[in-house]
Amino acid sequence: MIAFRNPDLHCHSRQSDGVLTPSDLANRAHARGVDLWALTDHDDVSGVGQARMSAQSLGMAFLAGVEISVTWANRTVHVVGLGIDERHPTLTQGLLKLRSERDERALLIAEKLAVAGFAGAYEGALKHVQNPSLVSRTHFARYLVEQGHVSTMQLAFDRYLGEQGTAYVPTQWASLHDAVQWIVAAGGVAVIAHPARYKYSEIEFDALFQEFRHLGGLAIEVCTGSHKPDENVQYAQVARDYGFLASCGSDFHGPAESRHDLGSVPALPEDLTPVWQALSLN
Ligand code: AMP
Ligand code: MN
Ligand code: MN
Ligand code: MN
Repeated sequence: MIAFRNPDLHCHSRQSDGVLTPSDLANRAHARGVDLWALTDHDDVSGVGQARMSAQSLGMAFLAGVEISVTWANRTVHVVGLGIDERHPTLTQGLLKLRSERDERALLIAEKLAVAGFAGAYEGALKHVQNPSLVSRTHFARYLVEQGHVSTMQLAFDRYLGEQGTAYVPTQWASLHDAVQWIVAAGGVAVIAHPARYKYSEIEFDALFQEFRHLGGLAIEVCTGSHKPDENVQYAQVARDYGFLASCGSDFHGPAESRHDLGSVPALPEDLTPVWQALSLN
């Protein structure tokens, strides 16, 4: 069994809604002691090539990754794929179609922000976007903060962009079935990201985990920058109860924004089987 002291299997580059390039992320991860790293941009794998090359030149073990937006029971769930072949056509075609919804949604968000008194938000958000096929709510949040309309990203989501916000636009993302299938077709392991973030009932959570497992999903994130410490403990027990492999990652988006930097996630409990045991590493 390969032991890693400090794996970080969840983060974002500016190819989605992070602020650093894939190679700056690789350097930062390595400098902070990460010894197994994955880039997991939202719905996009265009940064993986650069991430892999940078990781290889640093001698840092690397897994190609993605974080797929899914709609399940009318809510958004994120499913991470690890160890994928990022060129696999089933995956790339699925992601291409998924991304195609984003621009239209961005225009609708901007319309609602205009009603709230903020004209020009689409153009303003686009100034923060590196990858034109990936406009995210995060880019709108950065724009609202930059303009002084809100003082923090959190407030941008609470007041405008989050589910309860006045500029929220519900979106139909991929089905759980499709997301898992794309990941498995591309040779990867499907992982439910930051489970504590979802507002499901206990019954819904049970149904989600069972369906995910039935579809071929193998893992959940136990220790993540998007969980509070007690939630890591709670989801370690879920991993045991459902027989899931365990993953961990900072969900780092940028130095000024993220509560958890690369390489700062607590270690997984020793009795759990880490997700990388199911993947070949090169
Ligand atoms: P999208 O995929 O465009 O709907 O954007 C979702 C992204 O928004 C997530 O991946 C997070 O990075 C970010 N996000 C969601 N809620 C919050 C929040 N309350 N504070 C900061 N960022 C958030
Ligand atoms: Mn994000
Ligand atoms: Mn996520
Ligand atoms: Mn993420």
